[in-house]
Amino acid sequence: MLRKRFSKMNKPIVLIMAMEKEALPIIKHYDFIFKNPPWSKDYPFKTYFKKINENNIYLVLLGNDKKSKLNHIGTTIASFATSIIIEYLKPRLIINAGTAGGFHFQNAQIADVYIGYPEAVFHDHRIPLGKYLDYGEGHFKFHESSLKIAKKIKCKTGVISSGNSLDCSSTDMKIMKKLNASVKEMECASIAWICSITKTRFLAVKSITDFVDSKHPTSEQFIKNLNAASLSLKKSLTALLNLKNI
Ligand code: SAH
Repeated sequence: MLRKRFSKMNKPIVLIMAMEKEALPIIKHYDFIFKNPPWSKDYPFKTYFKKINENNIYLVLLGNDKKSKLNHIGTTIASFATSIIIEYLKPRLIINAGTAGGFHFQNAQIADVYIGYPEAVFHDHRIPLGKYLDYGEGHFKFHESSLKIAKKIKCKTGVISSGNSLDCSSTDMKIMKKLNASVKEMECASIAWICSITKTRFLAVKSITDFVDSKHPTSEQFIKNLNAASLSLKKSLTALLNLKNI
């Protein structure tokens, strides 16, 4: 029993984050050490490590695009990274943390932090072909523990909807309303998908940088609020990593 518990604790927790700026406050707070493992040499991902409260914690950033030098974002690179991480690090828990759009009509505030619950969906996989409609939307259920954790660290909960566009078309908006989404971003559902296939426990923590239902362009809001949102994200993540038995 003791041995089983010990080996479980030895398995790491992996935080997956897209943009460097989102991750900087948490990297600084814990003094995470940048150390790409040998297996990662063929991939763009940036791997940090720190032992926090007896837990081995890796923080993996999606890295930079060779062509544009920009941070990688979006579902393709996020699912690729998740597969590689699960293969090599064999985590007992994956946490996808980052920024996201929220909705005025749901009383979201800038820098509010949401824990994904009850599910992660896609708003731009439109396949109106019988049961493929549901398949396209994903509907990946979060574990019940997400709800308990949200209560403990005083975060909101909501459906997280992913797509590959920062702006929001009227079709996206219609579908997100149908899916009851509270959070719009670009990675979560793809990571949830890989975690569901591999039976890896998964949590999502998202801080609001912008309002999807606003007349101001998303990119302007995003840049203006990125610092505040990243700081509140750090606050919630530290509270989460301080919990016993995560
Ligand atoms: N304008 C930024 C790019 C931000 S892309 C720049 O040029 O540096 C958006 C990133 O933040 C993605 O990783 C996504 O998950 C998240 N995000 C924040 N707000 C979003 C929104 N309203 N819609 C989609 N993704 C959003």
